[in-house]
Amino acid sequence: MTAVKNSGVALVTGASRGIGATIARRLARDGFSVALNYASSSGEADKLAAELSQTGVKAIAVQGDVAKVDDVRRMFETVEQQLGKVDVLVNNAGILKTAPLAQTGDELFAQTFAINVGGVFNTLREAATRVNDGGRIINLSSTTLALNLPGYSIYNGTKAAVEAFTRVFAKELRGRRITVNCVAPGPVATDLFLNGKTDEQIQQFSKMPPLERLGQPDDIANAVAFLAGPDGAWINGQVLRANGGIA
Ligand code: NAP
Repeated sequence: MTAVKNSGVALVTGASRGIGATIARRLARDGFSVALNYASSSGEADKLAAELSQTGVKAIAVQGDVAKVDDVRRMFETVEQQLGKVDVLVNNAGILKTAPLAQTGDELFAQTFAINVGGVFNTLREAATRVNDGGRIINLSSTTLALNLPGYSIYNGTKAAVEAFTRVFAKELRGRRITVNCVAPGPVATDLFLNGKTDEQIQQFSKMPPLERLGQPDDIANAVAFLAGPDGAWINGQVLRANGGIA
C-alpha cells in the first residue's frame, strides 16, 4: 500500500512549544506547508520554522495573540500571502492556571476565557470564510473536563465552550466539506502540565491512566494527524479523548 501524502496549508496556533510544536512537526512530515503561530516565544517559533524549512517544507512563524481579533485577522492574512489559503486549522493555543473557583481572581478568569475561548472564537470566525472547502478544523479541548478535579473549574469551563463550539460549528459549515473536531488530551508532559506540580503530583497523574504513563506530545499529534488526513475524513463534530484511558 502506498502512503497517502497530504498537501495544502496547515495553521497551528500556539506552535512555538509543547503539543503545538509537535503537531506542526507532524503535519509538516505528512506533507503540509505549516504556519506556526505563537504569542511571545519568537525564538522557539523561528527555530522550528528554520528546522522544518531545512527539510524542504514551507514553514513560517507568525506572531499573534489569539485573544486579539486584529492579531488573528493579520495572522490569517500573513499565512495566505506567504503560503496560501488554509486547509487545516489547529486551535491549540491555550493556558492553564489551576485555582479553586472561590480563590480565582477576576484577572485570571478573564485571561483564561480570553485566550482559551476568545482565541478559538476569533479563529473559527475567520475560518468560516477563509478555510478552503474540504478543509479540517481541529480544536484542543482537555480530558480534565471529564475528571472534574478541584482547581479546574475555570479551565474546564473554557474547554466546555470549545467542545460546544465544535459541535455546532461542524453543522454550520454544511456544504463546505469542512470537518470540525476536538482532540481532548489527558495529562501530557509539557510546560503547561508540569509547571507548578511536585514530583509526587506528577507521579500520581502518570499512574491515573490504565496505560500508566503521561501522554507525550506525539500521542496527541498522532490523533490530530489522523483527523487532518484522509483517514479522518468521515469524523465530524466529535471529541476524541486521547488520554490512555484515564476517562
Ligand atoms: P504549552 O506547552 O504551555 O504551550 C502553549 C502554547 O500556546 C505556546 O506555544 C504558547 O506560545 C501558545 N500560546 C499561549 N497563549 C497564546 C496566545 N494568547 N496566543 C497565541 N499563542 C498562545 O501548552 P501545551 O501543553 O502544549 O497545551 C496545548 C493545548 O493542549 C492547550 O490548548 C491545552 O489546554 C491543551 N491540553 C494540554 C494538556 C497537557 O497536559 N499538556 C492536556 C489537555 C489539553 P508562547 O510561548 O509564544 O506564549
